[in-house]
Amino acid sequence: PRVDSVLGTSATSFPHSHEKISEPKDTPYFVDNEFRFSSSNEFIDIHDPATNNLVSRVPKMTKSELEDVVASAEKAFPVWSSMSTIARQQVMFRYVGLIREHWDRLAAVITLEQGKTVSDAKGDVLRGLQVAEAACAGPEYMKGEVLEVAKDMETRTYREPLGVVAVVCPFNFPAMIPLWCIPIATITGNTVVLKPSERAPGAAMILMELAEKAGFPKGVINVAHGAHDTVNFILDSPTIKAISFVGSNKAGEYIFAKGSANGKRVQANLGAKNHAVVLPDSDKDSTLDAIIAAAFGAAGQRCMALSAVVFVGETQSWLPELVERTNALSVNGGFESEADLGPVVTPESKTRIESLISSAETEGAKLLRDGRGFKPPKYPNGNWVAPTIISEVVPSMQCYKEEIFGPVLVCLQVQSLDEAIELINENPYGNGTAVFTSSGVSAERFRKNIQAGQVGVNVPIPVPLPMFSFTGNKRSVAGGGANTFYGRPGVNFYTQLKTVTSKWAGRDAQPAKTTLSMPT
Ligand code: NAD
Repeated sequence: PRVDSVLGTSATSFPHSHEKISEPKDTPYFVDNEFRFSSSNEFIDIHDPATNNLVSRVPKMTKSELEDVVASAEKAFPVWSSMSTIARQQVMFRYVGLIREHWDRLAAVITLEQGKTVSDAKGDVLRGLQVAEAACAGPEYMKGEVLEVAKDMETRTYREPLGVVAVVCPFNFPAMIPLWCIPIATITGNTVVLKPSERAPGAAMILMELAEKAGFPKGVINVAHGAHDTVNFILDSPTIKAISFVGSNKAGEYIFAKGSANGKRVQANLGAKNHAVVLPDSDKDSTLDAIIAAAFGAAGQRCMALSAVVFVGETQSWLPELVERTNALSVNGGFESEADLGPVVTPESKTRIESLISSAETEGAKLLRDGRGFKPPKYPNGNWVAPTIISEVVPSMQCYKEEIFGPVLVCLQVQSLDEAIELINENPYGNGTAVFTSSGVSAERFRKNIQAGQVGVNVPIPVPLPMFSFTGNKRSVAGGGANTFYGRPGVNFYTQLKTVTSKWAGRDAQPAKTTLSMPT
């Protein structure tokens, strides 16, 4: 069944508070520029992580509904890809304007479903919006190359869209990750099937409302809901030519292997363990503040969170001050204006994080700040884990080996920069890292020798702006990281190169001697 009209429906209106919703509505899917309710009888509940009140239910869509979604994108492809680049660009300009206009609404639904604070959710939207803004220059990136390669002969390249592409999203950036992909995929002429995280689909639904309003023709962007079965449907669909995946290693390594085996292009950004290195010549105040923000912001649920800190030499003595400054953070519902961090996403996530904290204790690390058992008075039923700081951690401990994905900072100690580099390089993940120092020589030594894709020098979360690309390394990406997200490599991922060699000699030109050998 259809949801009556696109704008102003319950599909995309959400409360801007943690108040209990008296009659939660199911999340519709989006096909042919319409919101529709699934006829499935299997649903996944979405709860407000601050209260565990029911917010909505996401359908595990039926096979025929999934087929409709893919068919819609397939039908739209010839229409959309043959529109002029300037016409597609005009749609993107309007989309960008609308996302900015609806920034607060997008942020509110992220806080409601995912738990992060409203101000942080606004950052989630902005980082995606910036990719859309940069994508307005897509036609510039689409231009091919031409060279006169011989007399009367030239070679030209064209970038052509792939067709229908799919995007499979994680829960932690409900606006940013869809927007890493939708703008670049569409400006280059592809049509999209987006599968939002089943834990936080609301922002994607608002992005669909805005896409329709911006003038994307029907079928250009569609949303399919569900969990593993929906992803398997995408993997098996011969119509879908490429998959962009962001999420855990477990899901991503499987999706990369199966998608590639099925002949699709796959880009997959995975998990992380990002280290900060603190050198004695760094500025203590700004370094400690940067580490606290990067470790505990978004309750540590960022793939670029600094979740491990390596204190070099005497900087180990800064630990009490790190704890003291962390004590000042306010953990509360994300709609509360003073909240610095909110809850973690689900009760299962809380249990997993708490058990990793316990394992550290059992394995002999020292709990300098224990966030277990914390509850803000107004929201006793949320998934709370307060900032936790664990020292005397060594690489063999579970809390170091696993991505915790919560507000937990593990602290290690070494005696030199080289030891820190060696320790980090031995870690299987390589998403991001940061060094804090006032020495250009040390910074350069770190930059040169570190095996991580995104390096900060006195910058805790060095996520590149959209004119660059997101360049994880090692196990933080599947397939060796050949296909990175956004920027020029994003355009390359969503387009197929066609190389044309032409010869135009006049009738009066000297005919070449016929030969069956390759020209030499
Ligand atoms: P997740 O892997 O559980 O889910 C991501 C998506 O994959 C969801 O849409 C889900 O439905 C689907 N999925 C999950 N398991 C599947 C399976 N077995 N088969 C098929 N599909 C499956 O990840 P999450 O918990 O939503 O997100 C957190 C993870 O994402 C963390 O590991 C984090 O580091 C990572 N992440 C990485 C980046 C990056 O750019 N490197 C960015 C954001 C998040």
